[in-house]
Amino acid sequence: MQLSEALSWGVQSMKLSGIQDAHVDILAFLSHVLVKEKSYIYSNLSMQCPDVVFKKFSSMVEERVRHEPSAYIMGKREFMSLNFMVNKNVLIPRPETEHLVEETLTLFPQADGSAYVGLDIGTGCGNIALSLAKYNRNFHIYATDISSKAIKVARENRKLLNLEKSVSFINCNLWNYFKKEKWRGRINVLASNPPYVRSGQLNDFAVDLSYEPKKALDGGADGLSFYKPLADAGEFLLKKNGYLIMEIGQGQEESVKNILRNKKVFQDIIVKKDYSGIDRIIVARRK
Ligand code: GLN
Repeated sequence: MQLSEALSWGVQSMKLSGIQDAHVDILAFLSHVLVKEKSYIYSNLSMQCPDVVFKKFSSMVEERVRHEPSAYIMGKREFMSLNFMVNKNVLIPRPETEHLVEETLTLFPQADGSAYVGLDIGTGCGNIALSLAKYNRNFHIYATDISSKAIKVARENRKLLNLEKSVSFINCNLWNYFKKEKWRGRINVLASNPPYVRSGQLNDFAVDLSYEPKKALDGGADGLSFYKPLADAGEFLLKKNGYLIMEIGQGQEESVKNILRNKKVFQDIIVKKDYSGIDRIIVARRK
């Protein structure tokens, strides 16, 4: 079987199961098993696909046909042009969340040359904390997660990205570890992509979401249950003029703004849209 035949077999199998963007996944799978760039496949379409390669490739296609997300099948996902290892214990990084990192890097650019301290609450595979530390080498980032299995993945990513000195991972609920007087007013930026899906909506989503950890998605009955504790963390931990930067779900901007306004310690509350034009990132400055 030629590479071109393997590709069309894969695309057909996935289309029959109603999977969108079949060709994107198929190319990624084939390049993964061949350990070659996608451009290599295009240049060698008539090459014979070795049996061992086709066997691995076809089992990946079969998993995807059962709607397993492609990031879990390949064990990795790109975020901010960096490779992150992922497994079923962590949420798969989303492109929308890159806006949160970009916004933070705009406010705290490496070019400043100042040493900054950041905190990422609910870090998952560590994508926010590690990409901030990668693109601003003057950051020290603390990052927490309630799941010890997620922290294990985040630590592996830290090793792969060579960021052991810049990022500290802590296995705790929300910001519990930091609820001590010595941490008051110590943080320049608190960034978080908390779970924000309404509990009642969790089952309405595409079947793919059902593979991801519920804990990373479920934001309680109104989807907002994590914003109050995050605002409390911002009030206690942020320095004067420090920033609280959070991802929000579609339609949550007014409710989250109100949670922040009620605190009375934040000013300049603004909302940024993602590439689909949806209000996605909320930024507030500590008075
Ligand atoms: N963006 C995710 C989704 O709706 C939700 C992530 C989250 O709850 N933080 O697919």
